[in-house]
Amino acid sequence: ATPTSIMVGTGRAAELGVLFRNGEALQSLKSTDVVALDKTGTLTAGKPVMTDLEVTSGFERAKVLELVASVEAQSEHPVAAAIVAAAKDEGYSLGEVSAFEAVPGFGVSAKVGQHQIAVGADRYMARLGIAVDTFADTASRMGRQAKTPLYAAVDGRLAAVIAVSDPIKRSTPQAIRALQAMGLKVAMITGDNRRTAEAIAAQLGIDEVVAEVLPDGKVEAIKRLRAGGRVVTFVGDGINDAPALAEADVGMAIGTGTDVAIESADVVLMSGDLLGVTNAIALSKATISNIR
Ligand code: ADP
Ligand code: MG
Repeated sequence: ATPTSIMVGTGRAAELGVLFRNGEALQSLKSTDVVALDKTGTLTAGKPVMTDLEVTSGFERAKVLELVASVEAQSEHPVAAAIVAAAKDEGYSLGEVSAFEAVPGFGVSAKVGQHQIAVGADRYMARLGIAVDTFADTASRMGRQAKTPLYAAVDGRLAAVIAVSDPIKRSTPQAIRALQAMGLKVAMITGDNRRTAEAIAAQLGIDEVVAEVLPDGKVEAIKRLRAGGRVVTFVGDGINDAPALAEADVGMAIGTGTDVAIESADVVLMSGDLLGVTNAIALSKATISNIR
């Protein structure tokens, strides 16, 4: 492409809310074979709400929610905000927390008063040696409802299963259909539970799902998608998306996402609207074919 056509292309893109951080991305985008998207905050709003909390026998719901929310108040994970908001809604006051520890991709733990609290994914409980089979049926139902099941342990004993739900963004279904109509393969990459990820993928008609990926596993997922010379565009918003954004042929960050993601991306979608992905690819095709 000539410098002029690139300038015109990037100018047009900016009008559509798509910011090209380099001209190279405008050229490579047109060859995209696969669009891989992070789930939380990219396909979904990234603002989960707590929908369920079921305790095991011997535990009181109000007490467990108060303890768990006290720990989550120290966490920056979106699911933490959901749990804290639920506790505040129910009028609980948060306890004093010490020895807080966040294990990225797993969960968080801390002491609240005299109690040792842990909250996180099933793999976090497995790591702590706490069985969660009591909630097997409940958790699989939550997953099918596209909710994420989390578990809480109090003093080493399973105390509750908690569900959080993160709604799909309004523009997502149309954006996915548009990408598929362009003949592109669409994939989802997420750290979330497999059942939850598959329920959301099914709602969106996404057939390739990479779930339960650890924070540093997204790069591996991109490498696998790139195998055989497929050109991969990855769209993400989070801190743990940054390495994958750099690894992909084209990295696209959500403008409302984290600074690290934006800095690692070639393209920034100024609004959270995923139709920007289609617009950017269409524009790349138009710009590059014009100068042939
Ligand atoms: P994602 O944001 O795609 O879900 P993460 O790697 O951030 O991926 O987290 C993976 C999983 O670990 C989450 O889905 C959640 O189940 C669990 N987790 C992480 N942080 C927390 C937290 N602060 N509280 C509860 N669970 C957490
Ligand atoms: Mg995300």
